[in-house]
Amino acid sequence: MQLPKSRRRQKLREKKCQYPGCGKIFYGIHISKYCTEHRQDRYRIRKRSKPENVNIKNQTITHPYTEVTTTVMHCKLVGCDHQFEVKLYPRQFIYPKYCPEHRNEFKRIRHLQLIGREDLIEQMKSESENAEIEHGEMEEGAADDGMTDVA
Ligand SMILES: [Zn+2]
Ligand SMILES: [Zn+2]
Repeated sequence: MQLPKSRRRQKLREKKCQYPGCGKIFYGIHISKYCTEHRQDRYRIRKRSKPENVNIKNQTITHPYTEVTTTVMHCKLVGCDHQFEVKLYPRQFIYPKYCPEHRNEFKRIRHLQLIGREDLIEQMKSESENAEIEHGEMEEGAADDGMTDVA
């Protein structure tokens, strides 16, 4: 008579924590990457490092003003000739890139469709993929997508 097969247990083995700067030796199953400390959510490393998404919807304007100054900008969206006023603040150099209407991605896409520049839509979408974070900065670890597996 055959003995009932016991459920195979994952063998623990010596692992080195992959967390940058840690390198602690711990015992874990083969897919473990991090020591118990660095397995916690708050240490999760995003595969996709947060982009410099400043330049997706915004632009850097290096101005010399030491007082609030209003200037007129052109919408940076291809084929849009709208102008809009921007208040320049001392020591602040990040400003919107698009006219108020086109600060909405959906409207930028619509606009590009209208002028027949579908080719630019994909590009824009991939650029702004991460910018969605802006709509309510998500809790660390809320989005599993793009996180390293820390199992
Ligand atoms: Zn560690
Ligand atoms: Zn515009």
